[in-house]
Amino acid sequence: MQLSKKPFYKSWKLLSLLLPLLSTTLLISQVDAYHLNGSRVDRPNQIKYWFDSSISQIGYTSAATHGSTAWNGVPGVNLKINATATTSASSADVKWYAASANNDLGQFYAHCEWSGGLASRSVISINTARFKNIDTDQQKETTAHEMGHALGLDHEDDVPAIMVSSGWENSVYPVQDDKDGIYHIYID
Ligand SMILES: [Zn+2]
Repeated sequence: MQLSKKPFYKSWKLLSLLLPLLSTTLLISQVDAYHLNGSRVDRPNQIKYWFDSSISQIGYTSAATHGSTAWNGVPGVNLKINATATTSASSADVKWYAASANNDLGQFYAHCEWSGGLASRSVISINTARFKNIDTDQQKETTAHEMGHALGLDHEDDVPAIMVSSGWENSVYPVQDDKDGIYHIYID
């Protein structure tokens, strides 16, 4: 009896040692889950965004403003993200357009094209043909997601993130993994 119990006790003890290790490993992999797209804005605490007239014409000023400012306050190492509007397209880090129905964005609700590297400049296009079919919070999550691309984040499908490639995180603001990615990009 004692002999048969002893191995069981030992293996249980081993398991109890392994469990904290396993959960620690899971936590570590969650922290590092975000993916970067290789670009970053020049002055993350002085980002300028600009709206083409098509944004207000089609009634998406509020959604685009939300996305542009949804990351404000998210910390890098020594600064916080801050984006404000500009009327000067040439000085803007991020330009927003509402694509015409003829503009082929296919299945996507919106699209962000970034220039890559340091001082990246981005163009975000809203696919008006599909954007009108989602609710207000989904529109806001979409615009915040596109702004995440402009800031340097790529898609993240393994842990909760508004940078998920499809479907909804059901958050109109960045969640922890998104913020961890920003912290990694803006180390100065
Ligand atoms: Zn995306």
